[in-house]
Amino acid sequence: MNEEELYRRWVRRVETLEREGIIKSIEVREAFLKVPRYKFTPPESRDWAHVDEPLPIPAGQTISAPHMVAIMLELAELKPGMNVLEVGTGSGWNAALIYELVRTDVYTIERIPELVEFARKNLERAGYSGRIHVIHGDGTKGFPPKAPYDRIIVTAGAPRIPRPLIEQLKVGGKLLIPVGSYHLWQELLEVIKIDERGKTKVINHGGVAFVPLVGEHGW
Ligand code: SAM
Repeated sequence: MNEEELYRRWVRRVETLEREGIIKSIEVREAFLKVPRYKFTPPESRDWAHVDEPLPIPAGQTISAPHMVAIMLELAELKPGMNVLEVGTGSGWNAALIYELVRTDVYTIERIPELVEFARKNLERAGYSGRIHVIHGDGTKGFPPKAPYDRIIVTAGAPRIPRPLIEQLKVGGKLLIPVGSYHLWQELLEVIKIDERGKTKVINHGGVAFVPLVGEHGW
């Protein structure tokens, strides 16, 4: 499929997500139109990038389904200038969308070296070098050098909320994280930090299915 056709199909996907009420804001819509998923999928699945399903990326991981990414970005309520950490870089697609919403440096952490390279290449090709920082490490421990964060967005499923992520949030800041006691089935939690001591308010947004978050405070 040529680039024109890929983009035409992508626009139709964005319009469908809007019709379904999943994309709600102009900001998320514009970010989706600016950063089509096919720029971040491996060549063999480019033609399916507009389909609303997760797709395989290297190392047995996945690039999330468009509706899932849209749901999390709408809940994140990102504003220009916010300091954001993403845990689970994968392809780099979500990090690029986050950048389009905050318009300032984004930090994203990935545990698998092969994916760190994959994401860096995708982001470089898409023009985000120097603005999105892909860190190799265990994101269950957060990324202290750039804390505190306005938002932390975790794109892998955790058995519980990792304590360091709460510690690295600003008061009033928000963590979005799939949490569940079964490996591939979780509930999407919106965790708002209420005070300096780490008290939180948790809103459950229902069932989701992510690959596992593997690390010291994960599986
Ligand atoms: N956000 C990604 C994108 O836009 O392509 C999709 C993320 S994929 C569903 C989940 C990612 O989380 C995988 O790449 C996986 O290797 C990564 N991951 C799992 N445990 C992690 C950890 N402790 N720290 C950082 N990344 C982790």
